[in-house]
Amino acid sequence: MGQDKRPEGFVVKWNEKSKHFPQGSTFLDVKKTFGWKNDVLMVRVLDQAQPQVLELREPVERDCEVEPLGFADEQAREALRHTASHVLAQAVKRLFPDVRLGIGPAIEDGFYYDFDTEHRFTPEDLNDIEKEMRRIVKQNLPVTREIVSREEARKLFEEAGETYKLELIDELPESEAISIYRQGEFFDLCAGPHVPHTGYLKAFKLLSIAGAYWRGDENRPMLQRIYGTAFMDQEALDAHLAKLEEIKRRDHRRLGRELEFFSIEEEGGPGLIYWHPKGALVRELIEHFWKAEHRKRGYEIVYTPHIAKLDLWKVSGHWDWYSENMYTPMDVDDTKYLLKPMNCPFHILIYKGKTRSYRDLPIKYAELGTVYRYERSGVLHGMLRVRGFTQDDAHLFCRPDQLEEQLIEVLDLAEFMLKTFGYDEYCCMLSVRDPEDKQRYIGNDDVWEQAEAALENALKAKNLNYQVDVGEAKFYGPAIDIKIKDAMGRLWQGPTIQADFNLPERFDIAYIGEDGQKHRPVMIHRTVLGAMERFIGGLIEHYAGAFPLWLSPVQVRVMPVSDKQADYAKQIAEELEKHGFRTQCDLGPDKIGYKIRQAQLEKVPYMIIVGDKEKQAGNISVRHRALGDLGAMQLDEFAAKAKHESESKSLDSVFGNS
Ligand SMILES: [Zn+2]
Ligand SMILES: [Zn+2]
Repeated sequence: MGQDKRPEGFVVKWNEKSKHFPQGSTFLDVKKTFGWKNDVLMVRVLDQAQPQVLELREPVERDCEVEPLGFADEQAREALRHTASHVLAQAVKRLFPDVRLGIGPAIEDGFYYDFDTEHRFTPEDLNDIEKEMRRIVKQNLPVTREIVSREEARKLFEEAGETYKLELIDELPESEAISIYRQGEFFDLCAGPHVPHTGYLKAFKLLSIAGAYWRGDENRPMLQRIYGTAFMDQEALDAHLAKLEEIKRRDHRRLGRELEFFSIEEEGGPGLIYWHPKGALVRELIEHFWKAEHRKRGYEIVYTPHIAKLDLWKVSGHWDWYSENMYTPMDVDDTKYLLKPMNCPFHILIYKGKTRSYRDLPIKYAELGTVYRYERSGVLHGMLRVRGFTQDDAHLFCRPDQLEEQLIEVLDLAEFMLKTFGYDEYCCMLSVRDPEDKQRYIGNDDVWEQAEAALENALKAKNLNYQVDVGEAKFYGPAIDIKIKDAMGRLWQGPTIQADFNLPERFDIAYIGEDGQKHRPVMIHRTVLGAMERFIGGLIEHYAGAFPLWLSPVQVRVMPVSDKQADYAKQIAEELEKHGFRTQCDLGPDKIGYKIRQAQLEKVPYMIIVGDKEKQAGNISVRHRALGDLGAMQLDEFAAKAKHESESKSLDSVFGNS
């Protein structure tokens, strides 16, 4: 802080209160004097042009106004969790003195530390390390900072054998001050910030062990990374751990295997999805719905090839701007071809096939187009990050004066589709160009201003809240990106809508205007679901595997209590098939309790149980996977209600409110 040195001390203001602090006071004294709550971890000093966030151990060095920062503040939260990573490293060093330290930052929702040691950490080790961490917390060790010279820092870490730290020191710019944080016998090369004592760590938990290359470089040693998290109190920690359990329970990779939806075959290669019959059925139902909805809204469905000449990708600009995501060209009859990473140029070629009049526009081509993009193997993740996927793509060719209305229609369609699947909350981002950096973008000012205004007006017309991201536009035009919130409150990439002036130019496409002259159409690229793989992977987690009736691969399973009702069960199942339900009849030898459990595990929405009682009465007993026993009813009554549930694409059972 400043240079003021006044023997009489300083005045600190908070919340209309002013207090005097003698020379040598710290913000810990300020915290105590003002009676701030325990969860105050840092302080923001407001009286300068640039407000500063400081550790509580910092001295008060001038008159100032302050604001206490608790766990809700991101920087304060990170200071607590980063301190937890130091405590973790200290505990590991106590238990495994030969470890060498990598780095240990706070991350979203927690922290980690990387270690290099011959020993392979086990889950039992995590328990021991946690116990040692609790000892360190109990010791309430002050966490202190000192500035050292480069030579001192080198000497300190050389003596400790910390070779990774030496590498980091050598990379620090000459001008940078080197700070060391200490707590007890432990010290670390660190820029901070931290909380004042290890005693601040009231509630923490080590979560997992993973391999991580030093500095993310696969040519460097593989270290062992221990992940953990920390909160202010046990209650918040418990809630977080419960949420992590729930996320694990919903993991689409595990559920996808259990429900027999999909697999990834090592023999076939990573990042490539095999849709098994049940998953394929769900996809087919969604695609059918998607196509019907698009036709209703004036789209025409097309199919285009999977490969095209390299030259086409030069015209489109992909070869120059996107080649690191494209696969190596293949030779066909001495001509180079590429696997498509996008569908856009193909739809343009269809548009270009004949002369278009202003009266023909807008022309809207939609395709469930399978594309291939290179992704590093390290980032592949189940169905969410893959190397081949089917986009629910469409390209709209319109006159500039139609742009806004077309964008509103696209937003309308996106909203309708997402609501149908149960996504009610979105975050919209409007990516515009940086007006200070115009050379990064293609196209003149008029067109850009018009397009950005059109996108913004469309968002306003649809009453959607949005955030403007300046400088985030693609080089060829501005875009709207919509993130959707799932049942766990997580955000997923949803619809993207881009206005494009570049490709029409590059491919020299036109329409004949009212004036008989050639004009350039505007192109809209858009996906609503994104990719079938990612969308359905997301749905598995959103629904926790329990798909609504209209999407369930098996909608009803009929189960006789014993062999004596087998014929009656078959008759019921046939009847339901006739009503159009995807029905199974479980005639296996297992006890009825086991059959029910099995159907529950497979998330079958309706179970129909028939015993002697039902057979004699000529009715059925119905059970729902979430609501449990619904009692006895006539088959026709059940069929009519369930049919309504399925046809209306309801997310809940019709029997829920009755
Ligand atoms: Zn640190
Ligand atoms: Zn496109």
